[in-house]
Amino acid sequence: MPQPDKLQWRSDLGWSPNSPAAWADPKSGLVVHYDSSDQNLANKTHSACEAYWDSTRNFHTGPSRGWVDIGYSWGSCAHGYVMEGRGLYRAQAAQPGGNTSHYSVTLMTGPTDTITDDQINAVRQLRAWLMEPDTSISGTVLGHRDFIATSCPGDRAYRMVQDGTFTGAPGAPTNGGDDPMIGLEKGDSGEAVKALQVLIGYAGQDLPEYGVDGDYGDETAEGLRQVRASVGSEAGAGWGDTVTGYAYAQLMRAVARAEAEQPDS
Ligand SMILES: [Zn+2]
Ligand SMILES: [Zn+2]
Repeated sequence: MPQPDKLQWRSDLGWSPNSPAAWADPKSGLVVHYDSSDQNLANKTHSACEAYWDSTRNFHTGPSRGWVDIGYSWGSCAHGYVMEGRGLYRAQAAQPGGNTSHYSVTLMTGPTDTITDDQINAVRQLRAWLMEPDTSISGTVLGHRDFIATSCPGDRAYRMVQDGTFTGAPGAPTNGGDDPMIGLEKGDSGEAVKALQVLIGYAGQDLPEYGVDGDYGDETAEGLRQVRASVGSEAGAGWGDTVTGYAYAQLMRAVARAEAEQPDS
């Protein structure tokens, strides 16, 4: 794997070409991070990502953090750029416990920001490039929360860490062929959410206030939770907030059962 298609070096941003951070040889893998607040960069031009990267570095080197440089090794933006942070062979201030053993990459996204296919592909290209003989890192991809109690990299990105999205081959489909409903969560909207809501109805659960509106809110979450309970799932609080694989399977089962119970028309 050659270097990522769209790799933006520190010098491209007018930063010193070499990070002042201490030398390290992080070989154990790549750790994914996010930003704790939404940035909406997917809906802006890439110049907004450059401004974000600059301001992140200013924040990290400023009075509240006081680090020698931006905390991360790399960033991966919605437009598919890999942006150099501390870069190759540098200790980081990203994931205490893994700052000299693992490289770090932040998605530059907040909790509900879209994680684009281009962005996922940029992480895959970065990983593949770092696995080449020069740096020869392990292919392991972890989330920040694997090191310490933190929300980072957010539930959505962490699911991608766990389901192998980031370890896929560059250019391969990013959802692995999964049903587009799997992975939906409260706050999402669109056609896949409508499909979810229609199926909740087919499973016999009303959405009395909002119906099929394409917005995954409290009512849809509660509807899904009730559907899960109806097929014997424990379905405690929060069990309708995300369409996990189990939730999806239970929804399908409830729909099949409701259809079977319907009198012939
Ligand atoms: Zn983090
Ligand atoms: Zn960008």
